[in-house]
Formats: sequence, structure tokens, C-alpha cells
Amino acid sequence: MASVTGPEIERLIQLLAKLPGLGPRSARRAALHLVKKREQILGPLADAMQVARERILVCESCGNIDTLSPCTLCSDPKRDNSLLIVVEDVADLWALERASATAGRYHVLGGVLAALDGIGPKDLNLEALVARVASGGIKEVILALNATVDGQTTAHYITDLLSPYELIVTKLAHGVPVGGELDYLDEGTLTAAMRQRTAV
Ligand code: ZN
Repeated sequence: MASVTGPEIERLIQLLAKLPGLGPRSARRAALHLVKKREQILGPLADAMQVARERILVCESCGNIDTLSPCTLCSDPKRDNSLLIVVEDVADLWALERASATAGRYHVLGGVLAALDGIGPKDLNLEALVARVASGGIKEVILALNATVDGQTTAHYITDLLSPYELIVTKLAHGVPVGGELDYLDEGTLTAAMRQRTAV
């Protein structure tokens, strides 16, 4: 395809097209928007990216991404030290925070066990998890992992790993989504919801 613009803007388009959710078409649209809004968006975006590039770190305690380590969540004195929520990825932590779903502390695994992809226990942030639990004070570990085969395999593995410690290990309920209609649910979700029914 013939280029309609010079290599600099073409490169901007190609890089934008690598972002999740943006294909080549929307990357073109986004690039054009940025170029048109040079002062209002392109400049501040470039500055924000520069700061992010220089200052972003992974929290050594929980694995969250921040410009501080320990991160903002780990250093917040109002959070509940007795509750530890284990998530696969930083995106899951951010999703739970957006929903204000818990006031506990987090632990990011950095993946889940996946034998087919060669991802074993050593590839996950598990040693640090056991160390946090062993240091005491945690009463409940919530395994907020995806309802996939790999997510559930990982949940089982962690449950075994934490069995020597005196705490409760729980996992998220699987079931009918808020606003969901039964007729539209797949059989797996319906069966899980029926199994995990609660008293009214
Ligand atoms: Zn942290």
C-alpha cells in the first residue's frame, strides 16, 4: 500500500497499532488525531510517556506497577493487613481497585501455571507470596484468579503451597453476572452458579 505520509508519522501509526485494542485503521485515526491536537494531546502525552519511561517501577512487595516501591497501595496505612488478594496480573489488580472490591493488600503472580506454554511455579512470584504469608498477620488469602483451566490449576497449587500456614484460603465465586440473564449463560457458568448458591 502506498504511504500517504512521511516515515515519521508512518512510524507513529505503526507503534500505535501495537497497542491492545487498536488495529491499523484505528491507529491511523488516532495518529491523525494526535497530530491535529499537537498542543492539547500530543505534547502532554509525549511528556507523560517520558515520565513513565523514566520513573515506572515494579513494587518489590506486591508486584504492582507504580513510580514508588513500596507502591501507593502497599504504603497506604488504611488497608487491611490481614487480607491478601492474589491476582495473575497488574490489570486484574487495577480492575479490583476500580470496583473498590476490597480493602486488602495484593500480590501479583505475574502469570499462571501453564504446562503447555512451559510456565512452571518458578516462573511465578510464588516465593515472595510464601514469604509474605510466613511473616505472619495474614488471616485470609483470596485467590482472585481467572476462571480458566490454568487459573484454577494455579489456585489449587497455591492452596497446597499455603496449607502449612494457619489461614483461610478462599477463591472468587463463579456464577451469574450482575445484570445477567440465565438464558444467555453458558452451561459451565450455570452449573457453577448452581453449585455455589447462597442462602437468601
Ligand atoms: Zn505494592
